[in-house]
Amino acid sequence: TSKTVGFIGLGNMGAHQAINLIKKGHNLVVFDMSKDNMNKLKEKGAKIANSPSEVAKQADVIVTMLPASAHVKSVYCGENGIFQSVKPGTLLLDSSTIDPATAREVASIAKKHQTTMLDCPVSGGTGGAEAGTLTFMVGGSEQDFNSAKPYLECMGKNIVHCGDVGTGQVAKVCNNLVLGISMIAVSEAMNLGVKQGMDPKKLAGIFNTSSARCWTSELYNPCPGVIETSPASRGYTGGFGSALMTKDLGLAVDSAKSIGEPLLLGNSAHQLYTLLVAKGDGQKDFSVVYDFLNKNFKN
Ligand code: NAD
Repeated sequence: TSKTVGFIGLGNMGAHQAINLIKKGHNLVVFDMSKDNMNKLKEKGAKIANSPSEVAKQADVIVTMLPASAHVKSVYCGENGIFQSVKPGTLLLDSSTIDPATAREVASIAKKHQTTMLDCPVSGGTGGAEAGTLTFMVGGSEQDFNSAKPYLECMGKNIVHCGDVGTGQVAKVCNNLVLGISMIAVSEAMNLGVKQGMDPKKLAGIFNTSSARCWTSELYNPCPGVIETSPASRGYTGGFGSALMTKDLGLAVDSAKSIGEPLLLGNSAHQLYTLLVAKGDGQKDFSVVYDFLNKNFKN
């Protein structure tokens, strides 16, 4: 039987995820700070609400897909937030990438309202969100994981139980630590080859059948024209913003510091994306690092 699912945060990722829930037969009630983003969902059959609290009054399950920890805290705990009117027994699924401590804190507040919150960050990019093939990294009890799974399966293909609340975020931050570094590695190498006369498509093709092969090179190549559907081929738009990558690497840097682990490349990568944000490329896809190397260091 179809349930009423609330969805808050209809950006590059959330809009696609919400549409996939509708396609699987759920009734959707949505909220976003942007009216335009809400209207796009209204056209697909969703009901619009005026605040997170209005969503919570109507929903049996709520999915949130917001930029960072501060937004998650305010949408759940703030004025007109979810906890103001949430129904006991509501399942709360936060798909945003935030720090594990905030995930645990908000989940413990959720418990006081007789509700259950799981951290369910995702990987797979906007392409995976649209196709419904995301990987979900889930933190919570096994029983709660099993309750969440049917909803997550409407939006993703690999639904992985990581452990207790917060461990989904731990796994996600580690994944993006690799991603942020590998994007710089592929960008540096593509730039070095292209500047010495290699055809970019040919060079990428060699990587993808050799030991340089990785997701960044094969599915998300930062050099324009190598992959027709990549953000690089459309002016670095509509992907995963450099500002969001800076946030994720910041989370990795903070957690490494808190347990005294080294993070040599992670720290350097964080610095480079910070610089791209300062330069004004925060909203551009993080693969813009290639463009930065290619344009600013002419041989
Ligand atoms: P986005 O900036 O495109 O979307 C965020 C949405 O949240 C926007 O529509 C914004 O209006 C809305 N919003 C912000 N504050 C709000 C509030 N207080 N109340 C209601 N709505 C609010 O971001 P995105 O690319 O969709 O990413 C969302 C999250 O998913 C981030 O944590 C990001 O790190 C993570 N993520 C992104 C990708 C990607 O490829 N874009 C992949 C995996 C994970």
